[in-house]
Amino acid sequence: MGSAENQHALQCAVVGAGIAGLGAAIALRRAGHDVEIFEKSTLKREIGAAITLTPNGNLVLDRWGFDAKRARQTMKEQYRVLNHQTLEVVERDSFENVAKEYGHSFDAYHRVDMHEEIRRLAEQAGAVLRLGSQAVDVDCEKGVITFDDGSVVTKDLVVIADGIKSRFVDVVSGEHVPTQKTGKSVYRTLIPFDRIMKDPLIAPIFDQQKSGFCSFINRESHMFFVTYPCRNDEVCNLAIFHDTKPHQANNEHWNSPATVDDALELLDGCHPAWPALVRHADSMNCYVVGRRDVIPRMTNGKVVLIGDAAHPMQPTHAQGGSMSLEDAAAFEVLFSNWSTEDSIEKRLALFNQLRLPRNVVTQLCSNAMFYMIASGDVDEGDAFMAALRRYWDGPLLPLSSKSWSKPIRDFFYGYDAFAEAEKALKYKDEPNGLPEGVIKHFGVSKGP
Ligand SMILES: Cc1cc2nc3c(=O)[nH]c(=O)nc-3n(C[C@H](O)[C@H](O)[C@H](O)COP(=O)(O)OP(=O)(O)OC[C@H]3O[C@@H](n4cnc5c(N)ncnc54)[C@H](O)[C@@H]3O)c2cc1C
Repeated sequence: MGSAENQHALQCAVVGAGIAGLGAAIALRRAGHDVEIFEKSTLKREIGAAITLTPNGNLVLDRWGFDAKRARQTMKEQYRVLNHQTLEVVERDSFENVAKEYGHSFDAYHRVDMHEEIRRLAEQAGAVLRLGSQAVDVDCEKGVITFDDGSVVTKDLVVIADGIKSRFVDVVSGEHVPTQKTGKSVYRTLIPFDRIMKDPLIAPIFDQQKSGFCSFINRESHMFFVTYPCRNDEVCNLAIFHDTKPHQANNEHWNSPATVDDALELLDGCHPAWPALVRHADSMNCYVVGRRDVIPRMTNGKVVLIGDAAHPMQPTHAQGGSMSLEDAAAFEVLFSNWSTEDSIEKRLALFNQLRLPRNVVTQLCSNAMFYMIASGDVDEGDAFMAALRRYWDGPLLPLSSKSWSKPIRDFFYGYDAFAEAEKALKYKDEPNGLPEGVIKHFGVSKGP
């Protein structure tokens, strides 16, 4: 792998070492290119809490040899919604056949464990990680990145994966697409399960239960309370989505501080087990949930936006991380067997045709359904339908029913990002790239 074996290796830069950036680095190394990752932080801080990874994301990680055991995987087997006052089970769904049906598992990870393992894969593959390097400008035509210390690098291909607050969205997409607040925030914490299971008020909720989501919705207070285990089932991940409190509206960071009392205030009128659970938390963080409208294109010249930089979405279907990995998988295929006759710009145009519709439809559906979970209404108005139908003529996803219903599972988990990219690659020399009808789910894509 890499330039030693590939005389046509591209010089690639990746900006941002989150799931998307590290994934892109692995993919481009596997395609035989040289990769430097520029990350503004030192990556030493805790990026806390848990993440759910669905089979379409796991398909990508499995192909790369991700060591799920080392990352302390927890397999999810069920979904339960309880009444917030009586603890009666009001909805239940099973994930037990998911791995069999879609070929890959449905997991939860502590974010730090998963991130460390992906980073290990990227470095093992030969990507060079430059920490403390903050990109401040990019020239899309020339592939030049400028950093905050004034230094510049010039690359054949620049992958921007700097997250939801990306500073490069406008220059790549060609439109001003600001990140906005949704009015929702989430209190997040992790609690050891052994502590929970010693508490007679809470233990019965989890005792003898299969691993998975356990949640409740309180529509009166617009609150969605969700728990699931991670780190070998040893730690309970707790997220409480709620209307942003004024004193936390300007929180900027994933790990902005909050207090246990902040979370307890939301639980008036709930069964005492829920506040008892929250009281076991040692700390509480508050993340103000952001959103961005869909972008008209992911690429410009030699530069491509991926992950949350391109398509931040609400966590309704747990797809943000998986879509980032799908983006990366597409690089591996589209940039393999590179020759001097190939054009970066043309190949990125193909990437855009392949990935933009899938990402946009996922982003629109996850955003629309997010509001339904707390309020009972799905935002499927005219603007939503017009935006969706621009990219998708297939059957509508049943957004008013369950987040994990069969059509939704088929749509997300039944997607093989490598196989779809292989189909797209056949059209690399066509003047207009992909014709209609080639890509799964987007056979009649009307993207630009
Ligand atoms: C509450 C919540 C729950 C979620 N749950 C799930 C879930 O269960 N499953 C799921 O799949 N997804 C989930 N998501 C979404 C998922 O977390 C994101 O989609 C995913 O982490 C995006 O990864 P990324 O690499 O694009 O961005 P990030 O993780 O934000 O990484 C961006 C990186 O770029 C660096 N950076 C930023 N600016 C610069 C710069 N100028 N120069 C250099 N480096 C820079 C940052 O330091 C950071 O390391 C959730 C999101 C939220 C908010």
